[in-house]
Amino acid sequence: MTMEKKKRKAIILLSGGLDSRLAVKMMLDQGIGLEAVNFVTAFCTCTAKSSCKSEARKAAEEYGIPLKVLNATREILAAIRDARHGFGRGINPCLDCRISMLRRARAYMQQSGADFVVTGEVWGERPMSQRPDAMRTIERESGLEDLIVRPLSAHLFEPSLPEREGWVDRERMMAIEGRSRKPQIQLAAELGVNDYPCPAGGCLLCDRNFAARLRLLLDEDPEPPLADIQSLKLGRLFISSSGRKIIIPRNEDETRRLEALAQPGDVLMSALSAMGPTAVIKGDADDAALAEAAALTARYGQAREQEKIMVGWRRRGEESGEEQALEVTGADGWRLAKTLRRL
Ligand code: SF4
Repeated sequence: MTMEKKKRKAIILLSGGLDSRLAVKMMLDQGIGLEAVNFVTAFCTCTAKSSCKSEARKAAEEYGIPLKVLNATREILAAIRDARHGFGRGINPCLDCRISMLRRARAYMQQSGADFVVTGEVWGERPMSQRPDAMRTIERESGLEDLIVRPLSAHLFEPSLPEREGWVDRERMMAIEGRSRKPQIQLAAELGVNDYPCPAGGCLLCDRNFAARLRLLLDEDPEPPLADIQSLKLGRLFISSSGRKIIIPRNEDETRRLEALAQPGDVLMSALSAMGPTAVIKGDADDAALAEAAALTARYGQAREQEKIMVGWRRRGEESGEEQALEVTGADGWRLAKTLRRL
């Protein structure tokens, strides 16, 4: 009587991009049972129309595997506060971030009774987190040493436990390395992986401008509300002479979003007699911030050329009270737009 081989199960990190789709297909072709996890963060640059979450959903549906979407924003913020492995060109703590994500994947693996973790990582593809030495560090510090299978680059690593034990067939995996996408595109054609998105997704933490904004926020509040982080993605950000953050939206959509994100105590202001943006002063606005924000609000509205402009303001949470107003000149706004610190 022959013993039937036990079907092994793995957790796969699924972004929905080409590499992770290939990894899914290669593991399914080997008869591995898969469950996918997709990490989303407040720092993804994808849009609601084309998000990595929806790409991961599409891929999971296409391959008939369950998907768990996990929000990793808090973990990334913790990684920024304690970036033991340093930052990339922005405020991106990629090694610490990957370690924290893989720790969660390991916990999910244990909880769901899976045997190992699969990733679509490619040796040397990303400068910070997919350098060979970094990949080993991430593996060790996430507690997944010997338990990560990387089907696209397996031959460039020592065989992992699932390979040594024969749970997966190492011979049916690849040795892809570097940043060229050609081998993956060729492999996709061979495996019949056709519908994959452009690799357009990114992380705002790598953007130097956004990094400067986030640094400022974290210096004031190491654990800021998510709404304040979302606000940093919008508008022109000026720093008042007294150090307050003044955000001037660039269009109606940003105005609407900034208003929705305003926190209790934030000041909202707009010109009273002309169309224009609703500016937001974050936090505890003092007289200098109020005057400067009012002038900037006038500068970016339709009354910008007028000599005298009335700008009304209220604090979020005090909407039932009387609106207050400040008189400013358009010229002040033009001057401040050039002289105040802008991020
Ligand atoms: S690019 Fe952003 S999400 Fe990706 S590992 Fe780096 S910090 Fe984390």
